[in-house]
Amino acid sequence: MSRSRRLVVLAGPTAVGKGTAAAYVREHFPEVWFSVSATTRPPRPGEVDGVHYHFLSDEEFERRVAAGEFLEWAVVHGRAKYGTLRQPVLDALAEGRPALLEIDLQGARQVRHTMPDALFVFLTPPSWEELVRRLVGRGTESEEERTRRLATAEVELASQAEFDEVIVNDDVQRAAEHLVSLMRSH
Ligand code: 5GP
Repeated sequence: MSRSRRLVVLAGPTAVGKGTAAAYVREHFPEVWFSVSATTRPPRPGEVDGVHYHFLSDEEFERRVAAGEFLEWAVVHGRAKYGTLRQPVLDALAEGRPALLEIDLQGARQVRHTMPDALFVFLTPPSWEELVRRLVGRGTESEEERTRRLATAEVELASQAEFDEVIVNDDVQRAAEHLVSLMRSH
């Protein structure tokens, strides 16, 4: 079996609950390896460098792009750069661990191109109204940032058919377990 068949790419719009689903997987399925993305956005309160993200300056990010260190990278929500470092992913797959990338649509499309054997999963909200409610409810973004994120979300939701699997996140535990069962059977 090709090693990249153990790679799962999880995408989905802002506030759909990717982080919560990932946290559930982390707690209950410790065999799954999680990619730590690099980003140029500043840390939110409580976020730890090297744990939630590798927080890089724009210069450092660009240096790594030029050095070919990213499996994929993109400007997300028209603001910061986000990217997956290639080597740690290859190392995890070489160890035989199932690996999970939580990235945006642009990044998923790049990985689709370079690692077509991966499994592409889209996490979708039960409805548009519910997505807006979750985004407003978490209260971590300004009104302007929310508008920006919802504009990206509309584009992302329209792309669902490109994915191998679509999971409706109406219940995070059910959604996370569905994700893990897909990872196991892939
Ligand atoms: P946040 O700023 O809320 O942590 O993340 C914003 C968005 O960036 C999320 O929707 C997430 O999917 C995306 N993202 C996080 N890491 C990566 C990455 O490594 N590559 C790409 N392309 N997108 C990412």
